[in-house]
Amino acid sequence: LVKMQALHKSYGGGAIQVLKGIDIEMKPGERVVVIGPSGGGKSTLLRVMMGLEQIDSGSISFDGKAYISSDGAARKTQIDTHVRRSIGMVFQHYTLFPHLSVIQNLILAPCKVRGEGKAKATARAQALLERFGLGAKANAYPAQLSGGQKQRVAIARALMLDPKLMLFDEVTSALDPELVSEVEQVILQLAAQDMPMMIVTHDMWFAKNIASRVIFCAGGVVVEDGPPEQVLGAPREERTKEFIDRVF
Ligand code: ATP
Ligand code: MG
Repeated sequence: LVKMQALHKSYGGGAIQVLKGIDIEMKPGERVVVIGPSGGGKSTLLRVMMGLEQIDSGSISFDGKAYISSDGAARKTQIDTHVRRSIGMVFQHYTLFPHLSVIQNLILAPCKVRGEGKAKATARAQALLERFGLGAKANAYPAQLSGGQKQRVAIARALMLDPKLMLFDEVTSALDPELVSEVEQVILQLAAQDMPMMIVTHDMWFAKNIASRVIFCAGGVVVEDGPPEQVLGAPREERTKEFIDRVF
């Protein structure tokens, strides 16, 4: 599904090396949980996959087609926006448009980007909201929602563009503990329908329940990559073990 090859990324004109040669191949239906110390490059990796960051070198392909690559000479990252649109992302902090109602947030991109008719998009949006237990909130504004509701709306909004891969970057980290589960349940529901996903989380319960594969990323490289029973339960690398013992 996705193939990253020798991804390098730095900030500050090379001063801060964040990704130092990442190679990850993801198969259809895989749910990859990425864990690792703060500053290790997890968010950067997801942002690079979304085409939100320039890269220094390397490439990413989706369904066999390179959609992110670096043009060494021009030092410019080439992004195939058409392919990039098959990926949806939800961030730690709610990124809903505050001046738009829930339903308007959902239909904006489908209508603008895909030229979908308003009536059709609205019907799809309403169905998604019902499915996520938010049917009654269609006309509410983001400020009137709880954090958990906002994150569920953000997930629904990403799904409106029919992504073939979903990226979640610590989507429950900013939530009060009692709101975490409602958001995780929505993601588990997507997992049950075989949505491929890459998830950054610090929640061990969630990681164990959602992952088909876990990658421990530190210092800009993949330190360990394997099934959850191995990486979370019986890590082979000393650095992974240290991290798991300390954080979880
Ligand atoms: P966390 O667990 O805290 O979210 P992370 O693994 O997601 O950490 P990143 O956010 O990817 O880590 O950051 C990796 C490194 O890149 C850090 O040293 C960070 O300070 C640096 N960095 C991230 N974004 C920028 C930026 N826009 N400009 C400069 N440096 C940045
Ligand atoms: Mg991060």
